Amino acid sequence: MYFENHGSINGHILIIGFGSIAKGFLYLLERHFNFKEKKLTIIDPLGKPNKGIYNLNKNYSFYEVKISKDNYKEIIDSVFGNEKGICINLSINISSLDIMVYCRKKEILYIDTVVEPWEGFYNDNIDNAQKTNYALRQAIRDEKNKNPKGSTAISCCGANPGMVSWLVKEALIKLSDNLGYNKNKIPETRLEWATLMRDLGVKGIHIAERDSQKSKINKRSNVFVNTWSVDGFLSESFQPAELGWGTHENWFPPNGRVFDFGCKSSIWLNQIGAKTLVYTWCPTHGAQYGFLITHNESISISDYFTLGDIGFPTFRPTCHYAYHPCDDAILSLHETLGSGRIQDNYKILQADEIIDGYDELGVLLYGHERNALWYGSILSNEQAKQLVPYQNATGLQVSSAVIAGISWALNNPESGIVEAEEMDFKKCLSIQKPYLGSLELHFTDWNPLNINLSNFPREIDALNPWSFKNILATK
Ligand code: NAD
Repeated sequence: MYFENHGSINGHILIIGFGSIAKGFLYLLERHFNFKEKKLTIIDPLGKPNKGIYNLNKNYSFYEVKISKDNYKEIIDSVFGNEKGICINLSINISSLDIMVYCRKKEILYIDTVVEPWEGFYNDNIDNAQKTNYALRQAIRDEKNKNPKGSTAISCCGANPGMVSWLVKEALIKLSDNLGYNKNKIPETRLEWATLMRDLGVKGIHIAERDSQKSKINKRSNVFVNTWSVDGFLSESFQPAELGWGTHENWFPPNGRVFDFGCKSSIWLNQIGAKTLVYTWCPTHGAQYGFLITHNESISISDYFTLGDIGFPTFRPTCHYAYHPCDDAILSLHETLGSGRIQDNYKILQADEIIDGYDELGVLLYGHERNALWYGSILSNEQAKQLVPYQNATGLQVSSAVIAGISWALNNPESGIVEAEEMDFKKCLSIQKPYLGSLELHFTDWNPLNINLSNFPREIDALNPWSFKNILATK
């Protein structure tokens, strides 16, 4: 099978964290980039998994070390010495900002898939506003503003955050073509993109995901099951719910809070994401519940597509995650919330134990002339397994975005700190597409007013179907 080469990595490669994403990612790295085996180092406190699998029988260095605030500089120094290269952060509980800043100081390229704080941060006695992704992202943006030049560091380049920002742009072009608007013109600047979104009448975006992967073994009690990091999912589930706040909104949630610092694109709710349900839509199952779990892309997309003064924007889309995790993860969350304690055991479903299902991850652009469109990747676990060993569908949507990001960084090594919206969406998606299963566009006539189940009518705004008041199911 022919695999396109996406570049040569000269210097060292450091992979931090060897969890569910990194295991499949390593195959993609080997497949698509030239590098010297001896120059690849992996660090994970859990140590090296069984010999012979995950391609770890090669000449790579593997260190069983827990990276912390106290040792990260020393570790980066000892891996890279005076040489350059790339640091690929696929771990949890490590400050993305601190690692990124230090790598940039040493002119080492950097990429991650999420903005993580140091371990323990979410349990610290700090204001809930500081525990939001808005605050975590703003710290990265402040660093970008303070030091705009220098080595490239890509913040949040997974599937979501990451790929979904590229999908939003491609979906806008498709909608524009469909409506016969501005054919053949692809916007180049942020202003042009935001103007296009406004002119097409898009009011908001759901990052609408349905994960239907399942194992043949039913979830047992006291086990938290998921298709990717359980730690990562629990952290975000217990952060406050957050969303990019659009200019079309005419109702404000009673427990909504605004920020008095930063880009002001978003609001947060004084409730956790795991208890915040929204009505949403994905192609295969149609209308569904999603968790409004905080994600970096809700903030970055609404920020990127803002027109006018940040305090008084003339246009901004509402944007949030609407996540239907795999059934076992929903059961697990139910158990956690009901018992008031986190399970003793964690389980990430492996590609070879999943018997059925897919990850359907896309962007639902709503409020325009054609009502709503969903554009995204529908990737079954069966397909994912054929494409990359040890990677389920969820993992492959993430690791293929990291590959696209690395290729972009190698070609743009002096771009400073960037997010997915600031990268070449076409190029990045073209690198990812072989790993996305079916990339599909669906128009739908669904809207959140279509939900009318019982004799207990919901409080709705019938005149404004796309009001967040109608979308928020748990008020
Ligand atoms: P995982 O929990 O399976 O693996 C994380 C790994 O990090 C573990 O092996 C763990 O031992 C290691 N680790 C923990 N503390 C460490 C430390 N102090 N130093 C070094 N290593 C440490 O997680 P995963 O599913 O592989 O996800 C990896 C990261 O990717 C997570 O941060 C997750 O939130 C993120 N993610 C992003 C997306 C996206 O689309 N953007 C999607 C899925 C996961």
